[in-house]
Amino acid sequence: MVARTLPPATGFLTLVEEGGGPGRLPANPFAARGTVTDLRDGTAAQPLLVRLLHSGAPDGALAHRDGLTVLLAGELYNRDELLSLLPEGPPSDTKPDTDTDADAAVVAALFERYDTHAFRLLNGRFAALVVADGRAVLATDHAGSVPLYVKVTAGRLLAATEAKALRTPFLGRPVTGARPVRGLPGVHQVAAGTVLDVTLGTGACAADHTWQPPRARRILPEDEAVDTVRIALERAVRTRLDTTTPLVVISGGLDSSSVAALAARALGHKIDTVSMGTPEANEFPQAHTVAEHIGSVHQDITITTDELLATLPHTVWAAESLDPDIIEYLLPLTALYLRVGGTGRRILTGYGADIPLGGMHREGRLAPLDDAIAHDMATFDGLNEMTPTLSAIAGHWTTHPYWDRDVLDVLVPLEAGLKSRYGQDKWVLRAAMGDILPRETVLRPKLGVHEGAGVTSAFSRLLTDHGVPHEHLHDAKQTYVNELFDQVVAGGAHPDTVDVTAHAERISKLARSKAIR
Ligand code: ATP
Ligand code: MG
Repeated sequence: MVARTLPPATGFLTLVEEGGGPGRLPANPFAARGTVTDLRDGTAAQPLLVRLLHSGAPDGALAHRDGLTVLLAGELYNRDELLSLLPEGPPSDTKPDTDTDADAAVVAALFERYDTHAFRLLNGRFAALVVADGRAVLATDHAGSVPLYVKVTAGRLLAATEAKALRTPFLGRPVTGARPVRGLPGVHQVAAGTVLDVTLGTGACAADHTWQPPRARRILPEDEAVDTVRIALERAVRTRLDTTTPLVVISGGLDSSSVAALAARALGHKIDTVSMGTPEANEFPQAHTVAEHIGSVHQDITITTDELLATLPHTVWAAESLDPDIIEYLLPLTALYLRVGGTGRRILTGYGADIPLGGMHREGRLAPLDDAIAHDMATFDGLNEMTPTLSAIAGHWTTHPYWDRDVLDVLVPLEAGLKSRYGQDKWVLRAAMGDILPRETVLRPKLGVHEGAGVTSAFSRLLTDHGVPHEHLHDAKQTYVNELFDQVVAGGAHPDTVDVTAHAERISKLARSKAIR
């Protein structure tokens, strides 16, 4: 157990300038909640302004080492391995009063030794910036799970964990290896598993991959595959726990129930679990079966359809995603996080297991199943479905063990016949969890997060009730999400000011006037 309840920083906004200058950070607010602290760092020739989002102990988010500064939002999950690469022992900081044992300090020591290749060594959930000697290096984790945005001109770089924080009048130049963001000229999102090395004087950028989804497939005997999956997932869950009681959001489905069962076993004491449903649909009985089996302190939360739909603008605001399907998956979770209560909880989820295991594809034949897995692993980038901001709008920190780098490196390459076997999808995971979950949970068919709580019907009905013809529903949802994005991300409006119903009426008019076909 290495993690703290919340990482030292959960987000940042930063400005680096070459050659000095007064420099000011934009005043745009973050969607993520937390204490905001402004710091001045760097050198006279290369001042660095940092706005940290944290929960009270920001020191560990910044580290210094012989002329380089490291800023890290998030956390690492392979610290012991990383420390074994540092023969001089735990890193020391060249500035007093900073946390020398923090993840940022480990990254600083590794960067000194490996330069940008340090980021190929990390298994974590983070966005990072290293400033050294005329360079600014930006890095995402293997999954880009903490989104990272940048705006660059010659002599000046702005970077932040939310795109909306970079709304500024100055024009940024195109950035190689990063994707432009809708409605925010000059703002780019750094790709997943990427280091972006920026020469500050010219603004020139060079991108390099630190991780890519494996394409080759491993052939393993059943027993060995099952053991390997169990060991990898056990480790990923264990390193995501701290000494406080974690909260696991469970549906009663296989993926989240496995995480909850492993967390309860690793801690050896009661954990908290919570499930969300709507008056239309829920998986409460299935979640109760799991909670009783693992002895968790469980809570059901029912969210009305109106409350759920009122959360649409908050979901787009937090996730900064333009994909209507992803927004639909994330909507019930956003509503749930807003209702969890308490402050600063560490939340574990079962999110994302279906991507490397092909759980969404009820496809028995192996070639299309493996194609679907390869496709989904190649196209997750930029969707922001793992973003911590979703729960950070309620002050919490989430982490997703199935998207641990080492778990993905086990799950993705397993040959498809281990994923679909004996007529079951996700067979290898079911077999790996057989001894710690109730039999009915292990055998339950998959039910998507949006299906179990009736979310798809809620979003669709919002539009059809306002007159959107069924055949234009998908396009209408896309237009709806685009317009929300334009308002709450690019436009800087607060999501509470968005009238969800008036918006649906407008979209419906557009649909009926054929403007969005
Ligand atoms: P399965 O894929 O077998 O249905 P699952 O329900 O755990 O397993 P998803 O349906 O993919 O997984 O949902 C993604 C994650 O979102 C879950 O693992 C869980 O952490 C969270 N989640 C989904 N539905 C709910 C719910 N109704 N209440 C609380 N958390 C949920
Ligand atoms: Mg489910």
